[in-house]
Amino acid sequence: MHSSYYNIIENAYRLTKALEDKGKLATYIPELANVDPSNFGIHTTNLDGTNFGVGDNLKKFSIQSIAKVLSLTLAYKILGEEIWERVDVEPSGTKFDSLLLLESYEGIPRNPFINSGAIVICDILMTHLNNAHKDFLDFVRDVSDLPDLTYSDKIADSEKAKGYRNTALCNFIKSFDNINNEPEDVLDFYFDMCSLEMNCQQLSKTFTFLANGGRKLDGKKIISKGKAKRINAIMLTCGFYDESGEFAFRVGLPGKSGVGGGIVALYPQQYTIAVWSPKLNPNGNSFKGMTLLEEVTTHSELSIF
Ligand code: GLU
Repeated sequence: MHSSYYNIIENAYRLTKALEDKGKLATYIPELANVDPSNFGIHTTNLDGTNFGVGDNLKKFSIQSIAKVLSLTLAYKILGEEIWERVDVEPSGTKFDSLLLLESYEGIPRNPFINSGAIVICDILMTHLNNAHKDFLDFVRDVSDLPDLTYSDKIADSEKAKGYRNTALCNFIKSFDNINNEPEDVLDFYFDMCSLEMNCQQLSKTFTFLANGGRKLDGKKIISKGKAKRINAIMLTCGFYDESGEFAFRVGLPGKSGVGGGIVALYPQQYTIAVWSPKLNPNGNSFKGMTLLEEVTTHSELSIF
């Protein structure tokens, strides 16, 4: 199965690479505007550990919102089901940085993957960890088997300097008493969390625990099977901003995108796959990344549907 699957990936990559890129770089975080838009990579990891990649699969990029899956994992592990009193699990139907629904839902974000929800998750981690910056990084180092992973100060500082909307979100949520720490501290941690960098190979390996019932490939338990199921469900319904329905329709896998142009997706019990192409479609998802994944799941017939 592997070699024919890898052939499909290679062909889909070449086909998509040749397409005109109709996307645009995210420029609201100045550092992201400096990335070479022609970067394009894909990497898949099977649960037996074999893996395969093409293109710029070994070049690091800013994973941005993809890290929100890892912060949710740690917060869910710590707080259990109580976490859903602070954040809901519904698609928002609005932009990732929207303030709109917070007014209607009295400061309870619609889900943990839009900015408001991820900011609440950061607040939870700050309350329950001794040193959220360090402890979260240690957690990601463990999950990813990347002991040298660090935050990118350059990216975090660049986002902080222009972080007006996220600041507004955090203050607004605090006005409803759903942020317990100082907004400035919560945001510093949020910007650090979003600044993590990985390449497609590392990203696909990191997410294998969610395809593997909560366990890393070496067997180490990260979270329970039940919690992994729920995180995957939220990725399917809320992982792609206001385009989660479209992603399920075209690709048919749970996953998460980030404004750095990365996408990670997974097929439970089978494989994970990460792609990177920096230019984004109008909904903030990688234009070529989404097209490439659609090609791969259509030709391999390996999707959850
Ligand atoms: N750090 C980004 C922001 O807050 C993350 C957005 C994303 O990747 O969706 O705007």
